[in-house]
Amino acid sequence: MSPQERHADVLIVGGGMVGATLACALGDTPLKVILLEAGSGQHTLPEQGFELRVSAITRASQRIFETLGVWEKIAAYRISPYRDMHVWDATGSGVIHFDSAELGEANLGHIIENNVISMALYERLSAFENVELITNSQFHQINTTPENASVTLTSGETIKTKLIIGADGGRSAIRQRFGIGVRGWDYDQTALVTYVKTERPHAETAWQRFLPTGPLAFLPLPEGYSSIVWSTDPEQAQELLAMDDKAFCQELAAAFDHTLGMIESTGPRATFPLRFFIANNFIGERLALVGDAAHTIHPLAGQGVNLGLADVASLAEVLVDALAAGRDIGSAKVLRRYERWRRADSLSLFVAMDGIKRLFGSDVPALRWLRNFGLNLTHKAPPVKNHIVRSAMGLVGSLPRLSKGLPLSGKPD
Ligand SMILES: Cc1cc2nc3c(=O)[nH]c(=O)nc-3n(C[C@H](O)[C@H](O)[C@H](O)COP(=O)(O)OP(=O)(O)OC[C@H]3O[C@@H](n4cnc5c(N)ncnc54)[C@H](O)[C@@H]3O)c2cc1C
Repeated sequence: MSPQERHADVLIVGGGMVGATLACALGDTPLKVILLEAGSGQHTLPEQGFELRVSAITRASQRIFETLGVWEKIAAYRISPYRDMHVWDATGSGVIHFDSAELGEANLGHIIENNVISMALYERLSAFENVELITNSQFHQINTTPENASVTLTSGETIKTKLIIGADGGRSAIRQRFGIGVRGWDYDQTALVTYVKTERPHAETAWQRFLPTGPLAFLPLPEGYSSIVWSTDPEQAQELLAMDDKAFCQELAAAFDHTLGMIESTGPRATFPLRFFIANNFIGERLALVGDAAHTIHPLAGQGVNLGLADVASLAEVLVDALAAGRDIGSAKVLRRYERWRRADSLSLFVAMDGIKRLFGSDVPALRWLRNFGLNLTHKAPPVKNHIVRSAMGLVGSLPRLSKGLPLSGKPD
């Protein structure tokens, strides 16, 4: 082996929330892991106010973080529970309301700034001796054979590995390098994000109003602030971005039907183009895709990163089980178990989200009637409602051990 050549059992490309969680999940296993991140890997919080990117973290994802020793670090920064969810249609009488008390749960999940999660993950992974972090570097060339893979970095060094993980986000260069296509829908939508202080308290509720142009969400933050995710057409997003604070606050309060009164102040605003797709394959030769590299969904259900964390929990379980059984962790047989598990789950959520988005984005009177009737009917049918909310909490389906709060190296199912 030349000095420029190193070995890792697993090379994770992309140290976002999903890739960094996988590195933590494989910490303290016999596997040698390298996490390769194009950025600096440094995350900070603003001195005033909040970070603009936040995630609704489900109970299942919380369990993953708890089991990996990350949750206590996240909670030590700042988190905001939501105990209720209130969803309604701006063009009719349809309304649905979920209450954690009805389920006998303390809350439905937490709203957490993305950088809080990343800071906690990077602190945790620095404690693992079998995990090495390489920052400010990217892959240059990849060669694979049925037996192994070789990845040359932009720095010139080469890493020989049994398995490459593509955790490099929606525009994944790894997915493209392996020629894996995607199937997607283009809704031509943009998400405008900011945080605001409202006249009335948010009541620890995640509010979502479906407007004809897209959903508008108010998500509870600490100290009475709310995080805003306003999905709309790109033209309106540009207009909202260009407004002065006073005009924006008035526009936002009106779009939200003054549900929490007037908007008293607002933070900076940013926009994100929204893309929606699922990869045709989640695996390739010596490759597995996780997180947004495998699937990018609409933020209306707040499930994107939760889906990625479920990928991580499932893949880590598949790898640890394979290792215990003496199998090659990068073999097609082992990786197919991961793909079968996760692609079906992701596809069904993807189809459901697409249906909701189309139903609520329509002005056709029959569809408008259907969605209002459907919301009210679901609201009055406790078993259906409970199933929906338990799914949204990530507590339904074939859960991996980490999502059940069990250690990774438990007994294989
Ligand atoms: C407005 C908005 C609101 C959202 N709200 C929610 C929510 O409430 N709940 C929820 O669950 N999800 C939400 N999501 C989705 C969620 O943000 C994403 O699903 C999540 O960030 C994906 O994480 P990831 O780690 O897979 O990808 P990314 O966050 O894209 O991370 C990819 C990482 O890979 C690195 N990278 C890229 N290319 C390379 C390379 N070639 N080599 C090395 N490193 C590379 C990048 O620097 C980055 O660190 C929202 C999304 C948007 C746009």
